[in-house]
Amino acid sequence: MINEQLIYETLEKNKNVPKEALLDIIDKGSKLQGLTYDEIAAILQNDDEEVTKALFKAAGEIKNKIYGNRVVMFAPLYISNYCVNSCKYCGYQACNQFDRKKLSQEEIIQEVKILEQMGHKRIALEAGEDPNNCPLDYVLEAIDTIYSVKTNDGNIRRINVNVAATTVENYKKLKDRDIGTYILFQETYHRPTYEVMHTDCLKGNYEYHLTAFDRAMEAGIDDVGAGVLFGLYDYKFEVLGLMMHNAHLEQKYGVGFHTISVPRLKKAEGMDLDMFPHILDDETFKRLIAVIRLAVPFTGMILSTRESVELRREAIHYGISQVSAGSSTGVGGYKEREDGRSVEQFDVSDHRSPLEVVKSLLAQGFVPSYCTACYRSGRTGDRFMQLAKSGNIHNVCSPNALMTLMEYVEDFGDSELKSSAKELIYKEAEKLENEKVKALLIKNLGLIETGERDLF
Ligand code: SAM
Repeated sequence: MINEQLIYETLEKNKNVPKEALLDIIDKGSKLQGLTYDEIAAILQNDDEEVTKALFKAAGEIKNKIYGNRVVMFAPLYISNYCVNSCKYCGYQACNQFDRKKLSQEEIIQEVKILEQMGHKRIALEAGEDPNNCPLDYVLEAIDTIYSVKTNDGNIRRINVNVAATTVENYKKLKDRDIGTYILFQETYHRPTYEVMHTDCLKGNYEYHLTAFDRAMEAGIDDVGAGVLFGLYDYKFEVLGLMMHNAHLEQKYGVGFHTISVPRLKKAEGMDLDMFPHILDDETFKRLIAVIRLAVPFTGMILSTRESVELRREAIHYGISQVSAGSSTGVGGYKEREDGRSVEQFDVSDHRSPLEVVKSLLAQGFVPSYCTACYRSGRTGDRFMQLAKSGNIHNVCSPNALMTLMEYVEDFGDSELKSSAKELIYKEAEKLENEKVKALLIKNLGLIETGERDLF
């Protein structure tokens, strides 16, 4: 599914496309028509000021057309850092010496309570790969535990799962546990680099890793979340790799990636950033985010706290639809952070609390959303994509986003947020065109203000 030669030929062929043609491509992209490999290669290889300006503008407009001004919030939860792999970029690689840890079910409950105190409703469950110390049964038990923790602060309503590539049988077990998205980053689509990065370890089988989503789809998981670890190889190759992977899934299963994450390589224990020649600068990174937005307009895009406050504030205008907030990348990291210590998988740059992120998004004109309704209403895979493509998504997602924001404001807002956000929520509600939906939303917002929860 990844045709290395075709990627190089496509890049070569589209090196010097004239400015007018590039602006036409961007114009086509802005009409939600997606981009061909040639078009992607042409835009990626041009950093002309006018073209970049048009690209950013189009990416922002697309984000607005499909996702409106909503930005979905989540946080990662690391349950085990046992790992048999030797990923050269990762702080949890097997040769790093530190006290490995796997959370007990009680410790998981403790972490979940802290996440709930922060207002989170959606998490990404993270674990290293170790069939003995972290078998799938442990992950399944952890999922049950997390869903069971219901406190006065609420509950986790969607668990996206980021565990190592596995078998159809195991994916079926994850599906039966009602997971949200199954997330797996290819790290790099460039096979030789992949093999160097993962020598002599379970994760080292490029083909097995690459076909993980095929097995997940065969097991009935139709929301899959892809990603590349930008910095391992040439970003242009990686973007085309992502697109080929997505096209393969669309052709074979009728639906491509639900989300694309764009993690960028950060300093971690046991690795030196100088050893990686493909680290990319902020400008290039922002451009590649915008190109992906144009290429696959209906796919969610995720940006984590690996990135700085400034970059996150800006990138949100170029197509990002989900952000993490208040994250810890350590096992038991939320409790440890409260106690003032922790071992993290890699450095994060944005240390703001979720409340600060919510305030900042609102100040920028975005609506932070804690909504998890789609997958709980069975709108996954191609049903979600049809909703997104129909444009009717606004009548479903806007009310849900506003209701979950109202919940957040009521339960976790300080007086400043309460006074500013409520006015904005009702103002946004008034913008809805469908009168029936608007009336129901306004009624529900009132109910939430008087204590009702989880309406969707
Ligand atoms: N065990 C799973 C696997 O092998 O795919 C989970 C992976 S890990 C918990 C989540 C992701 O963190 C990895 O897929 C990788 O892309 C990213 N990551 C690892 N080291 C990183 C670093 N130094 N900087 C930024 N991201 C990193």
